[in-house]
Amino acid sequence: MSFSAQAVLEALNSVVAGRASLHEPEINGNEWAYVKDCLETGWVSSVGSYVERFGEMLTEVTGVAHAVATVNGTAALHTCLLLSGVGPDDEVIIPALSFVATANAVSYCHAVPHFADSDEATLGLDPGKLDDHLERISKTERGQLVNVFTGRRIAAVVCMHTFGHPVDLDGVTAVCRKYGLPLIEDAAESLGSLYKGRHTGSHGLVSALSFNGNKIVTTGGGGAVMTNDAKLAAKATHLTTTAKVQHAWEFDHDQVGYNYRLTNVNAAIGCAQLERLDAFVERKRRLAARYAAAFDGVPGVRYFTEPAGCRSNYWLNIVLLDPSIDGQRDVVLKLVNEAGLMSRPAWRPLAKLTPYRDCPRMDLSIAESLYRRLINIPSSPCLVEI
Ligand SMILES: *Cc1c(COP(=O)(O)O)cnc(C)c1O
Repeated sequence: MSFSAQAVLEALNSVVAGRASLHEPEINGNEWAYVKDCLETGWVSSVGSYVERFGEMLTEVTGVAHAVATVNGTAALHTCLLLSGVGPDDEVIIPALSFVATANAVSYCHAVPHFADSDEATLGLDPGKLDDHLERISKTERGQLVNVFTGRRIAAVVCMHTFGHPVDLDGVTAVCRKYGLPLIEDAAESLGSLYKGRHTGSHGLVSALSFNGNKIVTTGGGGAVMTNDAKLAAKATHLTTTAKVQHAWEFDHDQVGYNYRLTNVNAAIGCAQLERLDAFVERKRRLAARYAAAFDGVPGVRYFTEPAGCRSNYWLNIVLLDPSIDGQRDVVLKLVNEAGLMSRPAWRPLAKLTPYRDCPRMDLSIAESLYRRLINIPSSPCLVEI
């Protein structure tokens, strides 16, 4: 049997009957009660008990010692990069296959993204390929890693857990150690995902979470900086609260800071959502198992399952077309979207976007192939009954 887009639609329909969006939030826990509490008590802005509680809950869920809640995930990433010492004219290694926020956060530091290729097995950074690339293009000069072709310092590596699937953290960590680079985890998509039993976001020097409306847990808009380093956590709080120096009444600010704090209203929603994270993950994993069975034996496509040694939150489910039919992606997208089953391609590789097309990069053939072959299919937890 050969590939047919109709067979993909039928497999999808066998799991998700009728219409379905890509990922919708489920607001039917304590969100109403907690938000009402904020409104009734007047604690609506950046100071309040839900902000504190939300941070504490995040540390409990992830096992990371400190969490600083922020307005969104992009702000969290920006803060992570600043905390890692990224500055003007530095280069930061980031995956080419990621959401644009990963690159934008680097630009906000007046630094330059340096794009790295993906690993087919994880969809995240390929540590072996990164190592070979750094061997070729970098040298250590006065204790700093320098790109010999651009003359710029290479300051950090950002890895990302693509659609919830953990990257090869052992491999990436080893490369970072070898070259003396801090690791930042963009864990925006992977709350609830484990790598060898440990939470994603707990392996790097710092990590960023997102609670945007489409993420597994939402605060409306929100994010968090996570770290095991108490000093960095204190700096994160300082930077995200306009670098205000503590004083009973005086307005004193000791550096250029940011107004990046999460509000109490948003944190209230987040607390109620986090109470249900385990239930969301469990239902998403049941949905994933159904998709895996439905796509088993469908010619030309493969349902992507969690990498070995990992427990994924299956944030967005993925089917991959065989390389031989990578021209068929849009045929499938058109058919299934018209049938009311919202599906989307992966992000266009960042190195191709107008603001980033002149940035340094390695060979990106796997990221480009994944972009031509990957389709995200409906993934809301509500697609599985409670
Ligand atoms: C969602 C997301 C972000 C940023 O999140 P916002 O909260 O929307 O700013 C960053 N990186 C990745 C990979 C994401 O998916």
